[in-house]
Amino acid sequence: MKKFLVFVLISISCANLFAQKSKKATPENGSDWNRPKLVVGIVVDQMRYDYLTRFYNKYGNDGFKRLMNQGFDCRNNHFNYIPTYTGPGHASVYTGTTPKYHGIIGNNWYDKEIKETIYCAGDEGVSPVGTDSPSGKMSPHRLMTTTFGDENRMFTQFKGKTIGVALKDRGAILPAGHTANAAYWFHGSDEGRWITSSFYMKELPQWVIDFNKSGNSASYMKTWDTYYNIDTYVESGLDLNEFEGGFKGKETATFPYDLNAIKEKNGYFDILKTTPYGNSMTADFAIAALDGEQLGQDKITDVLTVSFSSTDYVGHNFGVNSKEIEDTYIRLDLDLARLFKALDDKVGEGEYTVFLTADHGAVEVPAYLHSVKIPSGYLNNSDSKKKFDAFMKKDFGHDDLVENISNNQVFLNREKIKELGLDLDDVQDAIVEELLSYENVYKAYTAQTMASTSFTTGVEELLENGFNQKRSGDVLVVQDPAFISYGRTGSTHGSGFNYDTHVPLLFYGKGIKQGHTFERTVIPDIASTISSLLGVSFPSGATGRPLGFLLK
Ligand code: ZN
Ligand code: ZN
Ligand code: ZN
Repeated sequence: MKKFLVFVLISISCANLFAQKSKKATPENGSDWNRPKLVVGIVVDQMRYDYLTRFYNKYGNDGFKRLMNQGFDCRNNHFNYIPTYTGPGHASVYTGTTPKYHGIIGNNWYDKEIKETIYCAGDEGVSPVGTDSPSGKMSPHRLMTTTFGDENRMFTQFKGKTIGVALKDRGAILPAGHTANAAYWFHGSDEGRWITSSFYMKELPQWVIDFNKSGNSASYMKTWDTYYNIDTYVESGLDLNEFEGGFKGKETATFPYDLNAIKEKNGYFDILKTTPYGNSMTADFAIAALDGEQLGQDKITDVLTVSFSSTDYVGHNFGVNSKEIEDTYIRLDLDLARLFKALDDKVGEGEYTVFLTADHGAVEVPAYLHSVKIPSGYLNNSDSKKKFDAFMKKDFGHDDLVENISNNQVFLNREKIKELGLDLDDVQDAIVEELLSYENVYKAYTAQTMASTSFTTGVEELLENGFNQKRSGDVLVVQDPAFISYGRTGSTHGSGFNYDTHVPLLFYGKGIKQGHTFERTVIPDIASTISSLLGVSFPSGATGRPLGFLLK
């Protein structure tokens, strides 16, 4: 046993022998908890679980595989709510709960009170910083609960920093939370620079100004060809096929893509978002932030959130089975290796903790699924809308009872329903009955059912977890598996099926055991696990459980 020597200094002066009380020796500042110097949260936008396994042989040892083999791999990790979109996804990872509690029910949604469609990160009350474009008018004000970064900020008396980085504003802002020191996102167009809003600061810090001046984004305006010989990309379909969108100004969606030649027709710097170079820029910027923001330089834990958005743009354009997706993941693996190397150098190996997950998965292109005999297809919304309007007119005598249909939800004009003396429950029930008779409608439920029932399994549980009583609509609809409202090329997401819910969850670094599990974990478990690792309070709405089996 160690012996402790306790020195108690008592100053005695004759003048105030009894007036002065002795003070106990002060223990070291802060708690003794062995926290990492930095937590790095990584979200890969639109990453299906099988991108880890399908491209496994193409990855090096220092990117995904470093986390998979030296860290902890949760192989059965899912989103536990509908809709699986980017805004809700990022919010759920960092708040440890679902739209039911954090309130981010979509990327955009119909606001019942102001009767307008709003954007999850849009904020007319703030101004752009680093640009004059309205793309800077963003903040997390619609996020109703705290993130683990917020809790860490309060725990450390605001000495631990939080910085958010992503091409997409919502991918930077929602993870970083309410008390973030900064969130930075990319403004493409003819500017090609990293920006923020007055929510965080009055002007960009010098390191961001310098980064923007460095010509980083312009340096990626080059040809995108496959990283390895395309003939070795045996894990994906043919480069030329009918399931890919491609770029304006290039006839076929085939390699190589001369970005300089087609940038004018594709939004100038915005074209970089739909290439793996958007992820490289993000890694460059995140690495610059380590120095610029002095992250992980002392014992007080900082939080860096990084979201790689280009995977989503490439997926939407080219689809799950494309060579373009394969190349994008091969290159993301290299960017991750670069980021981890920078963390080793600047923070120190074993001094930081990383997790990597996604904000949703993606469906294979339905036209492709159809070609291999799997039930799938595209919804004819205009036909359904006509049929639906006719039904409302016939059954209720009015065609203005519906205010909005969006995100697979019907929003009713409640004032009008009241005025006509109709019963809201009856109207909701009748709409459910009607919609269930439509082709490719799998399930439909009323808001009344969502609010009054506690579902514990299945698609109903996912709907309930995504249902926010104040913000969500009156009727919720689920489409058949692999039926989407989308163009005939490229992939999308939003459903509660496994292709959208099953995503990677990897932990690595300080405090993390090596191993894997097939036990089901859900996205809200992440924030509770990181909170437990740090010993900080759980985020205010957290519903996930700490994954104790992976913590040391
Ligand atoms: Zn996304
Ligand atoms: Zn192609
Ligand atoms: Zn998307």
